[in-house]
Amino acid sequence: MLELFLDVDGVILDFESSFMDYIREVWLPDLPPDYQPRSWEMSDHALASLDIDEVWEAFMSSGRFNRLKLLADPASFNQLAQAYPLHLVTNLPQEQYGPRSENLEFHGLKFASLNMGGHHTFNIPNYPTKSAVIAKIRTPNRRPVFLDDHPVNCRDVAEAFPEALVFLMERPHNQNLESGPWIRVANWQAFVTRLNLE
Ligand SMILES: [Mg+2]
Repeated sequence: MLELFLDVDGVILDFESSFMDYIREVWLPDLPPDYQPRSWEMSDHALASLDIDEVWEAFMSSGRFNRLKLLADPASFNQLAQAYPLHLVTNLPQEQYGPRSENLEFHGLKFASLNMGGHHTFNIPNYPTKSAVIAKIRTPNRRPVFLDDHPVNCRDVAEAFPEALVFLMERPHNQNLESGPWIRVANWQAFVTRLNLE
């Protein structure tokens, strides 16, 4: 039996496009309308004039962060949540738990738990990795299924749980990666289709 552990930003919610819209409106009016960042850390040349941490803080308190659009399709998401225990592991500071759950509930998504963890620590002491979160909440004897768009998280979980099925969601920032201990999926639907084969 499977148990699902899914990332949120870049997998279920479209953080990047809302963040780019905000940057265009407030800071960089010439940023192209379809601009997609080429690096997870937003270190792109096109954004080089910005203090990205400052912009991130402004965005988080702008009221837009809890209205991110979906990348996942809610019907198939909720079908998975009925078929398997489905946990979300999102790379945010703890104070974003409320806005994040509000955003997920706004879209009608059902899930067993929402947890904070990931490779980016926000300089928070003892901020957990995704594998540390999973180790705490997993059900013994269920095979973990992990989905994320950051290769560091995928590697972390693949190393901690060799029996896990690890998926990397393709995004512009991870297009040029070498292969790794993951199965690449092009989008949410490709993940659902692939999972239904298990
Ligand atoms: Mg992500």
